[in-house]
Amino acid sequence: MTTQTPESVPFRAEVKQLLHILAHALYSDREIFLRELISNASDALNRLKFEMLTTTDVLDPEADLEIQITVDEQAKTITLSDTGVGMTRDELVENLGTIAQSGARAVMERLAADQRGGIIGQFGVGFYSAFVVADEVAVVSRSFRPEAEAYEWRSDGGENYTLTPATRETRGTSITLHLKEDAHDFASAWRLRQIVRKHSDYVAFPVLIDGDRANQTTALWRQRAKDVEPQQYTDFYRQLTFDYDEPLMHLHLVTDAPVDLHTILFIPGKRERGMIERRVEGKIKLYSRKILIQEEAKDLLPAHFRFVEGVVDSEDIPLNVSRELVQNTPVMTRIKKSLTTRLTKELVTLANTDSEKYGKFWSEFGVFIKEGIGSDAATREDLLPLLRFHGSASGDEQVSLEQYVAGMVEGQDEIYYVLASDLASARRSPHLDGLAERGISALLLAEVIDGFMLGGLREYQGKKLRNLDDPSIALPGESAATEVLVSDDAFVGMVNRFKEVLGERAAGVRAAQALRSSPLRLVPAESAQGHEMDRVRRLVERDYSAPARIVELNRSSPLVADLAALIARGDQPELTDALVAQLYDSALLLEGLHPNPAEMVDRIALLMAAAAAKPAN
Ligand code: ADP
Ligand code: MG
Repeated sequence: MTTQTPESVPFRAEVKQLLHILAHALYSDREIFLRELISNASDALNRLKFEMLTTTDVLDPEADLEIQITVDEQAKTITLSDTGVGMTRDELVENLGTIAQSGARAVMERLAADQRGGIIGQFGVGFYSAFVVADEVAVVSRSFRPEAEAYEWRSDGGENYTLTPATRETRGTSITLHLKEDAHDFASAWRLRQIVRKHSDYVAFPVLIDGDRANQTTALWRQRAKDVEPQQYTDFYRQLTFDYDEPLMHLHLVTDAPVDLHTILFIPGKRERGMIERRVEGKIKLYSRKILIQEEAKDLLPAHFRFVEGVVDSEDIPLNVSRELVQNTPVMTRIKKSLTTRLTKELVTLANTDSEKYGKFWSEFGVFIKEGIGSDAATREDLLPLLRFHGSASGDEQVSLEQYVAGMVEGQDEIYYVLASDLASARRSPHLDGLAERGISALLLAEVIDGFMLGGLREYQGKKLRNLDDPSIALPGESAATEVLVSDDAFVGMVNRFKEVLGERAAGVRAAQALRSSPLRLVPAESAQGHEMDRVRRLVERDYSAPARIVELNRSSPLVADLAALIARGDQPELTDALVAQLYDSALLLEGLHPNPAEMVDRIALLMAAAAAKPAN
């Protein structure tokens, strides 16, 4: 086809590296090359459609928008042709001589480190995956711009590729793969048809194999939900996201008022999909009248739903405005509102009807919902039914706010909680003293995001949320009297000693009113502000130091009594100081506020040495 002398161009180093890996690794699912090439052709067709809206001068305006695949079983070649935007000479160099896809680069690093076969199918490395099955690839392309000339790009996967002016009358790109010896079985129309069905069934353009249509004719989201099989949703999800797992749930929404919508949204099974995760700005593809307007639309859902993937198609989106401006049109606001309301409702229904499945959702994505409560006043109220919490009286089962309120005891008119940075600490919180005997439960807020969430969660159904570290709380109900084990004199001495040892770390030292079995607790200083965000600060601030807290000592605790006696005797001052400091540090640790727990190790060793050396009586 070409008549002129080829020009040889070296690949960029990174491409060479990738080609080397592709040629030498073993792949269990080499068939993904077809998915990658079809996806590129589909992108090119989408871009062409979009160009035709704004550009009048397009080569072959009448050409059918489709992807043709032809197989030559004798010559062992496959050719994919599309009528998309095509590429100019410079675009061939830019797009096929470098690694365009940022994902591919990450995959490459991973592959270089670990040349296991198989994993490649989970990522897709774009155009270069052609070299998984081909030892020579020829691309002939002509841009849609009328004045552009056709060029051929050709490579055997070695150091260089060649560029040659070519003849091609029509707009678009044809890619011919000369199959490797061990990939000859792909030169079969039947085989390719299977692969299309599996990986590319929902591509929005006709895919023809040797002239026959190989993929679905109607976009799934344009069908009625009752006509779609569950497996079709799963297949569509996989083709859309490249996730190997099943989605947790989907929402297929077709409406005409208040806005025309054809949409399928998916909640993935997992929050983190590691390397497979698409690092994108938004995970929704936005179509209007079957034209892809935005590949990564990010403003279609509030931030707290940013894990949702899917397709949104609306006839109401104006096509005559630029992609950037689409964002600000009133119809987008309406779409966002519709989607948000429906999705939230769907989740509430799930929460009420299938607690096991909802539990999975909550453990993966609950943190986003909590973030939404803390930051999004507009939808806060709607999100409240989605919240689930561990309770101090509810074992492993998580409760909703509604359930918590239903379980409140006589005389309780507030929702109690404790903050910590993990569940085990929360369950040991001294602030819980006295609750169990009164039959009261407290929410255990043990995630960092909880401090942030509380900023937007002040009350529920008229009941205030109260942090149990607030010394002014008077719990409802009676509790058994406790015996004071430390005399007034001894206690004064003890308070002084604590003040000396702790210095500025303690904002005060005093007797506790609320404690039962815990030796001490830390409560915020009267002047403390926003102390619920302390755990967030501990994580994000570089020079975080623990905020000064008031130490409340339990005069009924045997440990406190023994320590008071030790202080009064005045012997072993070093050991005494270590005990005081360690009590404080342990309390700080349970609060989730210790800047550096490892610092305690030396002191604990000292205390252990003392305990081990002590003669029995
Ligand atoms: P990605 O599709 O993620 O951008 P690829 O490696 O698959 O990465 O493709 C690289 C680039 O090559 C594409 O971004 C596109 O610009 C160009 N390209 C590939 N195939 C085609 C095609 N059939 N028509 C037009 N451009 C293409
Ligand atoms: Mg691609």
